[in-house]
Amino acid sequence: LQQTQQTEDYLFKIVLIGDSAVGKSNLLARFARDEFHPNSKSTIGVEFQTQKMTINGKEVKAQIWDTAGQERFRAVTSAYYRGAVGALLVYDISRRLTFDSVGRWLNELHTHSDMNVVTILVGNKSDLKEAREVTTAEGRALAEARDLFFIETSALDSSKVNAAFQKVVEEIYNILS
Ligand code: GDP
Ligand code: MG
Repeated sequence: LQQTQQTEDYLFKIVLIGDSAVGKSNLLARFARDEFHPNSKSTIGVEFQTQKMTINGKEVKAQIWDTAGQERFRAVTSAYYRGAVGALLVYDISRRLTFDSVGRWLNELHTHSDMNVVTILVGNKSDLKEAREVTTAEGRALAEARDLFFIETSALDSSKVNAAFQKVVEEIYNILS
């Protein structure tokens, strides 16, 4: 970075992607507002939410984009991806079909954004232990094969939600600084 840029704020665009109902909106609600919506039909959602975070003692702003449900119709637009430097690719550990979609989402991401976008594979709903259809080992193996970071979260009980966002932002910061 040039000398003049060093005092400026960092603003990182991060996109949430993955099949419908995997918990993308609730992950963001939990992270940004510490809220959870048991029956979310959250079409009200804002386009994005800006969250201040501290990385290595530096203030960083994460601008986190959420879909308004377009993924149901496979109609996430290129504007959604434009300028993204990070992505959380979310599936639901209790619905294997959402895990099977991960490859398609990666293709979509790489079609519309830089190949170097920092991506973490997120297995959400880790609280649904009885209903689990995708093992942690399977999730981790896919992440390793596709060169992604990996974490399992629960927006319901808050497990690892902050860690998921923190990891992406930290890695972006490390690359750019
Ligand atoms: P999106 O379509 O990916 O944005 O998914 P939503 O955030 O709207 O969540 C879809 C449904 O899954 C809602 O009924 C949520 O309450 C529920 N949900 C989201 N995250 C979790 C979670 O971590 N655990 C459980 N048990 N349910 C969740
Ligand atoms: Mg949503």
